[in-house]
Amino acid sequence: MDSISIVVPCYNEEQVLPLFYEEMKHVMDKMNYVEFEIIFVDDGSKDKTLSIAKDLSNRDKRIRYVSFSRNFGKEAAIFAGLENSNGDYVAMMDADLQDPPALLEKMFQCLKEEEYDSVATRRVTREGEPKIRSFFARRFYKLMHKISKTDIVDGARDYRLMKRQMVNAIISMKEYNRFTKGIFGWVGFKTKWMEYQNIERAAGETKWSFWKLLLYSIDGIVAFSTIPLAIASYVGVLLCGVSFISIIAILIRHFMGVVSAYGWSSLICVVLFISGIQLFFMGVIGQYLAKTYLEVKKRPIYIVREKI
Ligand code: UDP
Ligand code: MG
Repeated sequence: MDSISIVVPCYNEEQVLPLFYEEMKHVMDKMNYVEFEIIFVDDGSKDKTLSIAKDLSNRDKRIRYVSFSRNFGKEAAIFAGLENSNGDYVAMMDADLQDPPALLEKMFQCLKEEEYDSVATRRVTREGEPKIRSFFARRFYKLMHKISKTDIVDGARDYRLMKRQMVNAIISMKEYNRFTKGIFGWVGFKTKWMEYQNIERAAGETKWSFWKLLLYSIDGIVAFSTIPLAIASYVGVLLCGVSFISIIAILIRHFMGVVSAYGWSSLICVVLFISGIQLFFMGVIGQYLAKTYLEVKKRPIYIVREKI
């Protein structure tokens, strides 16, 4: 019998966890031809999430949990879930039912019948999301598409079902700065995309503020593209060219006998402009340096407090 592990990152999800279990139970009853295992990864929740998970695992043998010593972020939670999974197939699903468990059967059929290694989901609408957030999200995916070789799909959710081989490939990527959407693209394999309309949270609220998302998008760029570093040298070369031409022009003027003391304002403008660009690119280099610094420390991606 095939087995499927379901990895569910949970951070302060006391309101939705019981709802999630109910939904999942229906799906597991329906798909009685596979063995299931649900792994709740409690990402250092401050509410009753862990005790609910424990409770559920006492009631249902198929449920296990891993609980972190503090909040390590969703990426770390996913990684821990994958590392602790045993199934031939592994699915990742949000606890808030925004990733409909009912789709699982169709996804599984796909992997069984067609030559795919994973089935991923993509929402085609962003209804119920603040307009400004959708706008910046779209810009981000456009930009990523241009500057990164890794395929990062617009509207892609983290909800997907994968074969063991692909899961192992993902586990083998031990980088500390984990940008899962990029990692899926990077490992390759054949992925089928399934589309669905955006679904709003069943209860509770999103953990992502606008600023958190903005910082996350910068993490994504730094993790999967080095183009910003290259741009620094392109701009440097360009400015060298401009200054070379200016020097020649100034020399010609000098030897033609034009004596000038004016030009203070233009001089200041140029100085300000160039030092601005220099500072900006020092900042860009700093971003990469900071990430490199964190990587070389080789800190663990997560720390477990207890698990079953
Ligand atoms: N999550 C997590 N750790 C965090 C933040 C979120 O494990 O630090 C989990 C959360 O419990 C949920 C999933 O990641 O299952 C998606 O979070 P959320 O619904 O807040 O994000 P959104 O769907 O709004 O992008
Ligand atoms: Mg959500």
